[in-house]
Amino acid sequence: MRSFPLSEPVANDGAASRTALAEAVLAAVRAVLSGSGESNVALHEPQFGGREWDYVKECLDTGWVSSAGKFVDRFEAMLAEYTGARHAIATANGTAALHVCLLLAGVRPRDEVLIPSLTFIATANAVTYAGGVPHLVDCESRTLGIDASKLDAYLRDIAVVRDGVCINRATGATLRALMPMHTFGLPVDMDAMLELCGRWGIVLVEDAAESLGSYYQGRHTGTFGRLGGLSFNGNKIVTTGGGGAILTDDPVLAARAKHLTTTARVAHRWSFVHDEVGFNYRLPNLNAALGCAQLEQLPGFVARKRALHARYVKAMQVVRGASVACETPGSASNYWLVTLLLDRPDELSRDAVLQSLNAAGFMARPAWTLMHQLPMYAACPRMELCGAESLARRIVNLPSSPKLLDHDGR
Ligand SMILES: *Cc1c(COP(=O)(O)O)cnc(C)c1O
Repeated sequence: MRSFPLSEPVANDGAASRTALAEAVLAAVRAVLSGSGESNVALHEPQFGGREWDYVKECLDTGWVSSAGKFVDRFEAMLAEYTGARHAIATANGTAALHVCLLLAGVRPRDEVLIPSLTFIATANAVTYAGGVPHLVDCESRTLGIDASKLDAYLRDIAVVRDGVCINRATGATLRALMPMHTFGLPVDMDAMLELCGRWGIVLVEDAAESLGSYYQGRHTGTFGRLGGLSFNGNKIVTTGGGGAILTDDPVLAARAKHLTTTARVAHRWSFVHDEVGFNYRLPNLNAALGCAQLEQLPGFVARKRALHARYVKAMQVVRGASVACETPGSASNYWLVTLLLDRPDELSRDAVLQSLNAAGFMARPAWTLMHQLPMYAACPRMELCGAESLARRIVNLPSSPKLLDHDGR
């Protein structure tokens, strides 16, 4: 905890202190990024410094650009090896991966799925696509993810376990699944999530879209739940242009995931027989080729992001009123997006910081609008969300591209 000398106006929320904070943050960001030589620094840019051209060209030369080809298999094998999941199934994007994860977790129409209110819209949309109802959960400031003890207390209040299944006593609906999200690459407290899900009869599914390269107690995020979803969108740590993947250790679920994401076509040399309503969610070979080249560089990306994070931490130590969010003991973050946390949940201070950074050419952005503050999810069942509301007023994401360290030859 930072201590405030008595001579200073501790509760001063005035314009002067906001300007001082914004200037101090800007000076610290300048100190970290000054050597990058760029006048406009993006929040997160992809980097293609490996064999991307070779692999993509191979697709074009051989004509294997679309729904079949060796890069899809190779990409899935590389993902399974890197994450330690028994099976990885590539998909068209991360939202599609989460959608199918939820269907395979048994989410049926009207079932409720517990998700954090502080998340990207895809988490909630995937629940809706599966026919479920997002049930919004509060977040804690240590991990920026689901607050397990608050959720447990809340479930004691509203839920009951009947025949091994968790029922919301107010709505009568089944609380089928819990889908924590590893915010900006910071691993959620998975021990608590597993324990809670076991005790309440809730299926654990992870939204690991932002946390490829993040570990909790030595185990890769996205491999704790029955299923987990990854994203390879253009802004993620590794990109396929657009893409995603489903992780699971269960061979039956893996086979179901492959089947459902490939239009549920029954394998046959020429006839087109589909045995259920599947989805055209497969990842094209062209995108998988890009992904293979990117995955080869992932350890390097993670190392550089962690080094960049360490520099931000150091530079922000002299800033009063804000600090950089860090991984909790026992976890290792990919630091996908470095997050500045203001000490106080003051929207005006946050906006002053955003304003000064963006005006100076450093792209910074606030957290997403919370799910319960969006029109289509405002009426969802939810607990008290003061933790998430406070965090939304404190979060500023800083430029985090791995290439920002290149100027030092690292
Ligand atoms: C990126 C992301 C997804 C998936 O997004 P796609 O663009 O569909 O790949 C899902 N959840 C979170 C939290 C994300 O950040």
